[in-house]
Amino acid sequence: MVHTWTVRVPFDAEPLLRNAALRVTRPRVAVLAAVHAHPHADTDSIIRIVRGDLGEVSTQAVYDVLRALTVAGLVRRIEPAGSVARYEARVGDNHHHVVCRLCGDIADVDCDVGGAPCLTASDDHGYVIDEAEVVYWGACPACSTAASS
Ligand SMILES: [Zn+2]
Ligand SMILES: [Zn+2]
Repeated sequence: MVHTWTVRVPFDAEPLLRNAALRVTRPRVAVLAAVHAHPHADTDSIIRIVRGDLGEVSTQAVYDVLRALTVAGLVRRIEPAGSVARYEARVGDNHHHVVCRLCGDIADVDCDVGGAPCLTASDDHGYVIDEAEVVYWGACPACSTAASS
């Protein structure tokens, strides 16, 4: 795993929710904390984590919260081709992702040059471009080691 350094940072979801004008509810706090603690988790994993935290909570409730958090910009939804939707709490920095073709693991890759759109289109066709979505594909260290041994 390239991206996991498990440091227990106390995470306070409430001010984030308040700043985004979202009412603070236990499911919202739990989902935001789960996404923060498990970057690039898919919906099923988030449901599992939230249930471990809150007890019974419906799948639909978690979907609804994820949608609200995404719309509010507190959570970023990423969906590499062929992968289910993943969520992360690292928002607003236009970072990219590297995806393992074999196991689907995802890691963050900082922007090439700093700010969005990061890459300059060779022909913008007159569009005002504000984002370039870059996904690097390959084999993660665990999978490339397994393949060569
Ligand atoms: Zn892999
Ligand atoms: Zn990311």
